[in-house]
Amino acid sequence: MRIAMIGSGYVGLVSGACFAQFGHDVACVDKEAAKIERLRRGEIPIYEPGLDRLVADNVRSGRLTFSTHLADAVGNADAVFIAVGTPTRRGDGHADLSYVYAAAAEIAQAITGYTVIVTKSTVPVGTGREVARIIRESRPAAEFDVASNPEFLREGAAIEDFMKPDRVVIGVESQRARDVMAAIYRPLNLIQTPMVFTNIETAEVTKYAGNAFLATKITFINEIADLCEKVGADVHDVARGIGLDGRIGRKFLHPGPGFGGSCFPKDTLALAYTAREANAPQTIVEQVIQVNNGRKKRMARKVIDFCGGSVAGLTVGVLGLTFKPNTDDMRDAPSLDIVPALQAAGARIVAFDPEGMEEAGRLLKDVTFTRTAYEAATGADVLLVITEWHEFRGLDPRRIKELMRQPRIVDLRNIFDPGEMRALGFTYEGVGRPGPR
Ligand code: NAD
Repeated sequence: MRIAMIGSGYVGLVSGACFAQFGHDVACVDKEAAKIERLRRGEIPIYEPGLDRLVADNVRSGRLTFSTHLADAVGNADAVFIAVGTPTRRGDGHADLSYVYAAAAEIAQAITGYTVIVTKSTVPVGTGREVARIIRESRPAAEFDVASNPEFLREGAAIEDFMKPDRVVIGVESQRARDVMAAIYRPLNLIQTPMVFTNIETAEVTKYAGNAFLATKITFINEIADLCEKVGADVHDVARGIGLDGRIGRKFLHPGPGFGGSCFPKDTLALAYTAREANAPQTIVEQVIQVNNGRKKRMARKVIDFCGGSVAGLTVGVLGLTFKPNTDDMRDAPSLDIVPALQAAGARIVAFDPEGMEEAGRLLKDVTFTRTAYEAATGADVLLVITEWHEFRGLDPRRIKELMRQPRIVDLRNIFDPGEMRALGFTYEGVGRPGPR
C-alpha cells in the first residue's frame, strides 16, 4: 500500500514509521519546513523511545520519505491519513478543526484515482462527514471514501502501542474502503489484534469516550487519595484492593497532581462541548474537568502548607516538568500551573527534567534549569517531584539530604517510600498516604 501521512508530529511520525515497518510505502508530510529538514538529516524532532532507530531503518530501506509537498505524496497514495493537531479552540473549549479542514481542502486538490482519506487526528463526531463534504465540493468527480481511524498510542510507549495495540478501531462505510484499511493493518492479524469496524460516527465517539473514561478514572483515584490523606488510609493499598477486581482493572489508578498532556485536557473539553451541542450533556465529564483543574491549582497550595504557610524566599527544587515520563511533551503539564503559582508566592525555582527543559524554557519564566537531579536539590529548602521519571526513583536519598538546605520533600507521584524517607530524616509528604503516627 502507498500511504501519505499529513502531519508529522507525535502521531503522524510514529504512525508513518510503523506503517513503513509493516511494509508499506509511506510519505510523511508536514508544512513545517524546518521539521522536514531535520527529519531528512536523520534527526528526530521529538523525544520518543526507539523512534530514531525505527525511522532510520525505514528511511534506509526506502519505504519512508519526508516532504513538505502534500500534492506529491497524496497523488500516488491508496490512503491519506490526516494526523494534524486538533487543539482546543480559544474561547469555547471546542476542538479547533481548522488544520483538519485545511488539510482536507489541500488533499482534495491532489488525489488521483480511488483514495481513502482517513482521519487519525482526534476529531469530534461529524468531522469525517465534513471532510467528505469539503472534498466532494471541490472535486465532485473524485473517487474517494472517508474513514475514521482514531489513534490510541501513548507518548513514551508509542511504538509498542502502535505495533501491538489492544485493538484498532476503524469507521468505514464502503466495502472498498474497508478492504484498503484491512490491507493496511493486515500485519496485525498475525498477533490477532481485534479490529473493530464501525460506522464513522461510532469510531469518532469511541476515541473521546475512551479518553474521557481514563481521565475519569484518574480523577476518581485522586479524590479517593484526598480522603485517604484525611483519614489515615493508604491510597495505593486502596487502588490495589479495588484494581484486582477484574471489573475495575489495575491501570490508571495512580494518584498524582491531576492529569495533563496533549490529549486528556483538550479531549474532555471537546467531548463536553460536542455533547452539550447535541443536547446530551456529559455531566460526569464536565465534573472531571472542573475537579482536575482545581486539583492542579491546589498542588502549589499543598507545597506552601507543607512549608508552614509560606514559600516566600525559599528555593524549591523541582524534579520533572513534562506531563509524564519518557516524553518531552509539555502541553498542559501540571508543572505549568504549579511552578508559576509557587513563584507568585515568592519561591525561587530550580528545576531538572531529563527531556523537557528546552520546551519548558519557552513556557516558564525565571526558572533556573540544572544538568542533573542532584543539582536541582542542591541548596533547596524543599524538593518537589512533579513527574515520575524512572531515573528519579534511583536517586540516593542520603546524597539528596546532604545537598539540600532543609531535608523536605513533597512527592506528587509517590516515587519514594514514606517510611524510608522519614527514617532518613526527611520531612516527607506524598499523595494519599498516611503521615507519621
Ligand atoms: P503535533 O502538534 O505533534 O503534530 C501535528 C503536526 O501537523 C505538526 O507538525 C504540524 O506542523 C502539522 N500540520 C498541521 N497542518 C498541516 C497541514 N495542512 N499539512 C501538513 N502538516 C500539517 O500533534 P500530535 O500530538 O501528533 O496530535 C495529532 C492528532 O492526534 C491530534 O488530534 C491528537 O489529539 C491526536 N492524538 C495524539 C496523541 C498523542 O499522544 N500526542 C495520541 C492519540 C491521538
